[in-house]
Amino acid sequence: MAQIDERSVWEKIADQLRSRSMWMLHYCTGCGAVELPPSMTSRFDMERLGMGPMATPRQADILLITGYLSAKTLRRVIYTYEKMADPKYVIGFGSCTINGGIYYDSYSTINRLDYYIPVDLYIAGCMPRPEAILNAFNTLMEMIRKGEANGWKRYKENYEWYKQNQIRSLGEVIVHDEFHE
Ligand code: SF4
Repeated sequence: MAQIDERSVWEKIADQLRSRSMWMLHYCTGCGAVELPPSMTSRFDMERLGMGPMATPRQADILLITGYLSAKTLRRVIYTYEKMADPKYVIGFGSCTINGGIYYDSYSTINRLDYYIPVDLYIAGCMPRPEAILNAFNTLMEMIRKGEANGWKRYKENYEWYKQNQIRSLGEVIVHDEFHE
């Protein structure tokens, strides 16, 4: 059954404009990061889609998790995600973000990114090529335009569930450190 679009006209216009001006945070976690330079530079030129890199989370729209994520880095990813302003979007690169990939039984990496932060879109591949990355960005833009990229809302609605998963992996220190006081 088709989903009912409950957005107002102004929200639809805002989403249309958002989808054409996307800033992705310069923050990379795994092997997939090496595919970003060719995606950004002259051969694939992601800027023609209206996408560019941004240095600070407070001004970025997209958080890319470009591969495996160690528990140590997970904490920084959560801080970073929470510092980004709504609406914000997350893309997971490769199998490592879906189920741990080749590190599925590692003691120091997480298996499922979406236990900790909401993921709007995954890119298949180990590692994904630039064509797959650009295709994912196009898909995300379309999702935003249609009001379907709602991970940031899910994070608020299910905050206790996400927080419990975060604490289970990282300990109570996640909510009692210098960043959260
Ligand atoms: S999915 Fe493959 S390329 Fe990506 S981080 Fe994991 S091992 Fe590396």
